[in-house]
Amino acid sequence: MNTEPLKWENDEVRVDVMYSVAGVGTSILVASKFTGKFLLLDVGDGALRNLMSHIGTEFVEELDIISITHGHFDHSGGLFSLLGFLRMLKRKTTLDVVFPAGCTEVSGIIDVFKDCYHDSISFQLRTQEVRNRVGFDTDFFKISVCEVEHFGLENTSNKDVLMPAVGYRVRVGDTVVAYTGDTRMCEGVCELVKGADLAIIEATHKEHPENEPRVHLSVKEAEKLGSLAKEFMIVHRIPEIK
Ligand SMILES: [Zn+2]
Repeated sequence: MNTEPLKWENDEVRVDVMYSVAGVGTSILVASKFTGKFLLLDVGDGALRNLMSHIGTEFVEELDIISITHGHFDHSGGLFSLLGFLRMLKRKTTLDVVFPAGCTEVSGIIDVFKDCYHDSISFQLRTQEVRNRVGFDTDFFKISVCEVEHFGLENTSNKDVLMPAVGYRVRVGDTVVAYTGDTRMCEGVCELVKGADLAIIEATHKEHPENEPRVHLSVKEAEKLGSLAKEFMIVHRIPEIK
């Protein structure tokens, strides 16, 4: 399996897929070349280490937004460590954490972090729960949101149910980067990637399993979706387990 980091850039934006392997971790860095600000798409396990090895401590003040697509651990499990690191280095700048409304994994991590450290958190930690077509902007990034369809076993019923899951379109200047998060083929994901300068698309399955709920996209579906964008890259492949 090729786990080499994927990269893309134009005059305004640099995108670095620092790591993306299904069931392990995903963290993708979007950098605005004009402002030097960063947006992190998903914060799976190892996100802090990925950031340190890709850009050193530059992100401590310059990370503007963490946008999380859904609560699966491979997309959100690195949040606590990253927040802890920012507190330890006494970050001063406000940080926005954006996640789908009802995503209890992420709101839970943030609640625990705030409960543990209260006033000793050196920066303002703002949360933004997003819904379909309700976007969020900072001075540096404009985010629009499309709901996607992603089933997850991780719930109290132990049945596969649709979970709160979104994809993001991030605008920096005139550049649009779309990121699907995890999804099966659905209307929302088509709308999400359409016309984007770069679409980052998950394709966990080599081929679709016949009799399973469609939790993820296959490579063929991802390529078809990618043709709706100007350019695309495929991420979130499944590791070969021996
Ligand atoms: Zn997932």
